[in-house]
Amino acid sequence: MSEPVIDARALARRYHEGDLDVPVLTHVDLAVARGETVAIVGASGSGKSTLLHLLGGLDAPSAGSVTLAGKPFNGAGCRMSAAEQGEWRNRQLGFIYQFHHLLPEFSALDNVAMPLWIRRESKQAARERAQEVLAAVGLAGRVRHRPSELSGGERQRVAVARALVTHPACVLADEPTGNLDRGTADGVLRLMLDLAKAQGTAFVVVTHDESLAARCDRQLRLERGTLN
Ligand code: ADP
Ligand code: MG
Repeated sequence: MSEPVIDARALARRYHEGDLDVPVLTHVDLAVARGETVAIVGASGSGKSTLLHLLGGLDAPSAGSVTLAGKPFNGAGCRMSAAEQGEWRNRQLGFIYQFHHLLPEFSALDNVAMPLWIRRESKQAARERAQEVLAAVGLAGRVRHRPSELSGGERQRVAVARALVTHPACVLADEPTGNLDRGTADGVLRLMLDLAKAQGTAFVVVTHDESLAARCDRQLRLERGTLN
């Protein structure tokens, strides 16, 4: 494999609940290649969201390290300040959640343009790029709609567009279709994987759904704190 996009080594995360020490992840190694799509399946409570938070630098591991696009990004060996980590996250990663997390008072277009504004790109250039990506997810006719004026599947497609608008190296998706009916979920997943291949973006997708997982390049199971 050429340099992986994400290289997680010996990741561990334990939580302390009073006197109780709860080891959620004990030893996770994961290398994701450029443009690769990886599904992570596992029972509820197995630590899937915890793992994505560590990969995304949103939580610190108890042990181990995450290298993102060649830079030590989280855990052992990471020398970035919180601000530097935030910049690198914005540059290299996109996120999609089970619930869309769109901002209710903004249009679909401005929700998608937001990550580019955070990068201090001009309003105009950001809106043009957002318009293109919304067209790519089949929502050219919905750019002025607010989230409350869209269906569940449309909102999730806006969330996909928002994750991809920056051309990230990797998208981390936590049960992105878990809130949708079967047909809509299939459509959103197909769209995500097609766009990933077209852009060369890697995807790490957490899902309960084995048939959705089967469409990814690689399927891994999180069980007893480790990935197999
Ligand atoms: P999954 O996403 O696979 O359903 P999670 O990663 O959300 O699982 O949670 C894994 C385990 O870690 C669960 O037992 C959960 O209760 C525990 N856990 C998650 N976050 C915290 C936290 N902030 N404090 C304590 N325990 C937590
Ligand atoms: Mg979860």
